[in-house]
Amino acid sequence: MKFVIASHNKNKLKEISDILTKFNIDVELLDKNAPKPAETGKTFLENARIKAISGMKYTKLPTISDDSGLCVDALDGAPSIYSARYCEGTDKDRNKFLLSNMKDKEDRNCCFVCAICCVFPNGKKLEAVGKCYGQILEEERGDGGFGYDSIFYLKEFDKTFAELSSDEKNKISHRANALKEFERKLREYLKEIKQT
Ligand code: IMP
Repeated sequence: MKFVIASHNKNKLKEISDILTKFNIDVELLDKNAPKPAETGKTFLENARIKAISGMKYTKLPTISDDSGLCVDALDGAPSIYSARYCEGTDKDRNKFLLSNMKDKEDRNCCFVCAICCVFPNGKKLEAVGKCYGQILEEERGDGGFGYDSIFYLKEFDKTFAELSSDEKNKISHRANALKEFERKLREYLKEIKQT
């Protein structure tokens, strides 16, 4: 069986394909000419679904997509689905902007969210959502990772995501948690279709 991953992010590709190889599933990336649907959903899951459905219609193969971002309690959940475009510029600019919006906020609680959707040509959808809870620091710490990693602090490690190795991050991240749930659902579904 072959699945398509509707993403051009190499880290995501590796994490997702590592799971699919356990099921002897081959993985290919969605080709660059595929339509890029507008992410008009109101939730991470709706956006993941939009991208997976569009990819599946184009490839006629089971297609997996994900959508993720950071939700900050004191900012009413922002930047949420707008994490990648919270403000113009680089990841560093977005971290600065978020820290300035958090200046006088006592409540630093936040979580990363990742939604995964896999759509099959028969219309079946497997969906999973994973979270990882932490706190927004007062200033950036660490050089690893990407996005908001350097301001996302985990009490239990006394480190930010940007100070963890990628192996450490990939065990506990929102994406890891969503993938665990997705793996469980995929195992069940593959068993089900084998029996019918
Ligand atoms: P996407 O799901 O790859 O489009 O991610 C949306 C945005 O959410 C990214 O551009 C980052 O700003 C943020 N984001 C998602 N996952 C992470 C993460 O693991 N670390 C840091 N930022 C993340």
